[in-house]
Amino acid sequence: MLDASELHTFYGESHALHGVSLSVREGETVCLLGRNGAGKTTTLSSLVGIVPPRRGSVHFRGHDITGLPAHEITRRGLCLVPEDRRIFPDLTVAENLEVSRYRGRERAESWTVEGIFDSFSMLAEIRDQPGKTLSGGQQQILAIARALVGQPVLLLLDEPSEGLAPVIVHQIGALIDELAGHTTVLFTDQNLPFAFQHASRCYILEKGHVVYAGTTAELQANPELQDRYLSVA
Ligand code: ATP
Repeated sequence: MLDASELHTFYGESHALHGVSLSVREGETVCLLGRNGAGKTTTLSSLVGIVPPRRGSVHFRGHDITGLPAHEITRRGLCLVPEDRRIFPDLTVAENLEVSRYRGRERAESWTVEGIFDSFSMLAEIRDQPGKTLSGGQQQILAIARALVGQPVLLLLDEPSEGLAPVIVHQIGALIDELAGHTTVLFTDQNLPFAFQHASRCYILEKGHVVYAGTTAELQANPELQDRYLSVA
């Protein structure tokens, strides 16, 4: 479904990604791991055209989307939930969802605003509250729900569990599991148990290079590898 090949991405003269290649197959849940500054956010930003790669290519559902504007990539169903969530502060929860609805014809409306409220009672209870009054956990759930009403083909989540209470992390994990099979998910994380529990495959980035690609089960069974690339000591 997604094939990124040899991505080189720069911030000005600073070379952040050094030939990152990764692929995600339909229905998979894949995690991108790595320490702070390894290039996880930059990889997602490169895939969706926010920080276009200077070299390399991105193919999505058989089409070359390299260099397309970010809004065009989103329109095709590659939807990113950024780390800072970008909730509209003055719109209510319901309005945040309403303005994010997919209005194209290419994809079915699998997630309606009412469907979101049926599935997430936590959001239904605060549907008339402005975005700025939400807790971090409520914002994260809303940010994911907002991406869902955009009818994503591939959902990209940047550090969805970061800084959140265990009960919210559990809900986000359950949601990722529920999506498995019908919505393909690529998420970044620094929380290894979360990645082990919810992703089947993973990539580890270090200094803008892919240093591991394999199943999460293999990584889980290899503490030496975890230590080498992921420990924060
Ligand atoms: P984190 O977990 O801290 O978000 P990350 O793995 O997502 O880390 P990136 O944010 O992709 O890492 O950063 C990769 C490299 O690019 C780092 O060296 C970082 O300092 C640099 N970088 C990231 N954003 C910018 C920017 N806007 N301008 C310049 N350099 C940047």
